[in-house]
Amino acid sequence: MTRKIRTRIAPSPTGFLHLGTARTALFSWAFARHFGGDFILRIEDTDEARSTQEAVDQIIAAMKWLELEYDEGPFYQMQRIDRYREVIASMLEAGTAYRCYCTPAELDEMREAQRARGEKPRYDGRWRPEPGKRLPAVPEGVAPVIRFRNPIEGDVTWDDMVKGPITINNRELDDLIIARPSSEPGGIGTPTYNFCVVVDDLDMQITHVIRGDDHVNNTPRQINILRALGAELPVYGHTPMILGPDGDKLSKRHGAVSVLQYEEDGYLPAAMINYLSRLGWSHGDDEVYTREQLIAWFDGQHLAKSPAQWDAAKLNWVNGQYMKAAADDTLAPLLAAQLARRGVQVQAGEHLARVCGLFKDRCATTVELADWAMMYFTDITPRGEDLEAHVTEAVKPALATLAAALEGVEWNKPAIAAAIKQTLTTHGLKMPVLAHAVRVLVCGRAQTPSLDAVLELFSREIAMKRLHSF
Ligand code: GLU
Repeated sequence: MTRKIRTRIAPSPTGFLHLGTARTALFSWAFARHFGGDFILRIEDTDEARSTQEAVDQIIAAMKWLELEYDEGPFYQMQRIDRYREVIASMLEAGTAYRCYCTPAELDEMREAQRARGEKPRYDGRWRPEPGKRLPAVPEGVAPVIRFRNPIEGDVTWDDMVKGPITINNRELDDLIIARPSSEPGGIGTPTYNFCVVVDDLDMQITHVIRGDDHVNNTPRQINILRALGAELPVYGHTPMILGPDGDKLSKRHGAVSVLQYEEDGYLPAAMINYLSRLGWSHGDDEVYTREQLIAWFDGQHLAKSPAQWDAAKLNWVNGQYMKAAADDTLAPLLAAQLARRGVQVQAGEHLARVCGLFKDRCATTVELADWAMMYFTDITPRGEDLEAHVTEAVKPALATLAAALEGVEWNKPAIAAAIKQTLTTHGLKMPVLAHAVRVLVCGRAQTPSLDAVLELFSREIAMKRLHSF
């Protein structure tokens, strides 16, 4: 192929960006990047009743969050209606499209009769022009639709990037309606979805159409129209749906399906990209890889024929890997954003970065990181059972000694460690006994990373106040 690779994602703005669409966007983006091509965002907003600006904004925000940068667009189908009409006019002229004056009642009747004869209901071609055929007289007062004159003979075959060769006989395909009735006599009404897609893919010089396999049935129709327009065909790739853990198509029922919900839930965009890319594609056994590796590897091979299943535990694991690897000052603003959601305003400065550094290894998400960080910025309430179990009469004298020792030390990790050690020696206690008690009082929980490191990140004032609170 000599054409420059051009792919697109064409979401309908009838809701948020769904995980499935994000995955398709990601495949299209990675494929274009791999070949140094272009990736285009097209908003398919011809369903005026269901399309909203809010959904458009959400889609763009989600693409931005995932850093799926597009080279062109967003293009809006509603702004291209004149162009679609122009193409339809040229098809009417060329005889590859025709006006059909069947009324809805007539079509119903046609279908009824076909069903009664045990046939599959389809348009019977009564307004289809054929050499030597006499068409019915144009009825009064009926605004016609415009139909595509689909070939009757032969097959449509394409070599699907994902599914391999697919062949559909033209006898399976109706003469598709490409424009609805117009209110103006002789006019061309609103073009239909399948037709707009074709003109867009043609005008935008799309070379590879990667989309969900719910569009497989549209493809032979779109190919026929492209052929009628004398266009070079794109390569098609239809990825199977993503399934929920129970094997049904992934839906709200399985939890969040909006991409931006995952931002709120504390996932890193790079981890999301990594996880999503593995749903229906693989590079050997690799599970964790960078965007650069993904781009280097994503050549359109190894796309899975069978549906991938959403696995929340695996996503958490992948995200945990990215949390561990992330720089502390990269995580700090994300943590600040999570804390802000809880009403805690903190600067994403050095202190917050150190909090990230201390806890990130044990967190799957920035939400979990915020769970840890809260003890530094809000009051804590130790649980009664923890106080009872750990802040015992036996350990209280040691707590008093430690508090006194900490009063005078320089507030850093080695000095805090030395004070703890000295207290243990003085009272002949084992580390866990004292450490658990201090943790429950200061941190509100008995398990934390190394005590000196945890304490160092409190101000001395707060640490002392909590230590004295038994
Ligand atoms: N607008 C379609 C959808 O959201 C995509 C169509 C296409 O990729 O061709 O499912």
